[in-house]
Amino acid sequence: MSQSEVFWQSDVHWRDLLEFIARGSIPGSIGIEIRLPWQREVMLSLARRILCESGSACGRCPSCRAWVDIEHPDLLVAGEPDAPAPIDECRAKSADLSLSPVVAPVRLLVFYAPEKMSPGAVNSLLKITEEPPSKGRLLYMMDRGTILSTLRSRLWMLSFSVEEKIEPLTPPASQSEWLRWLKDNEKNDGQKWYAMAHGYASWLCKNGELKRAGMLRQLAETALATHLSAAMWTDLLFLLLREEYPFEHVFDDFRQTALPGADRCRKQHSF
Ligand SMILES: [Zn+2]
Repeated sequence: MSQSEVFWQSDVHWRDLLEFIARGSIPGSIGIEIRLPWQREVMLSLARRILCESGSACGRCPSCRAWVDIEHPDLLVAGEPDAPAPIDECRAKSADLSLSPVVAPVRLLVFYAPEKMSPGAVNSLLKITEEPPSKGRLLYMMDRGTILSTLRSRLWMLSFSVEEKIEPLTPPASQSEWLRWLKDNEKNDGQKWYAMAHGYASWLCKNGELKRAGMLRQLAETALATHLSAAMWTDLLFLLLREEYPFEHVFDDFRQTALPGADRCRKQHSF
């Protein structure tokens, strides 16, 4: 089990949902609220169960064997994390949901980012969300944010607060620890960076550095929205935690490709 799976697998409502699915009583329309870096993983984890003949992602039934990497003939996906599909695509995929399943017991249509859909787009999905086809199920994956109450009221909703579950993380202290840190984290993805930033923020909080913790959390939010590269994450965390970098400059420098000071750090420590 990956570290991130622990965040939701220990959630009692998540376990309820998995039990419904295993019993074959899958809610018609499910809404999952979770931060962006976890959305694809959670979506796939649910889809593998919903499309399995025994509702357990058994890996052996004909439907489980029909997965090719992250694609399945009965999985329809509209949009991606943080980016809803255009309204025409939403309509076309809704129509495809009524077709007979190819191999799974039901077809599953996933809508990403309903919080960013226009009211018109959401309204056009209300009917199918209220009453999906008999062999169709819907799954809405959303970030923190508001969706129209008319949509929310039609969903079996589950919200995860990932941030609350992240344990405090002690930042490296010595130069050699920092060097190892830079090497070990070179290939991190957005999910790992985000969790790490919140871990350090919790540690700062515990040590009474509330302002720095607040900045780090704000930084993590901005990084999510701007899809920050691994190199930028490394520089920013290094500067914020290691150097006494003036915080007020961080956000000004954020949008520039190179941070003043970052190159200097790299050179000084010969990275
Ligand atoms: Zn199966």
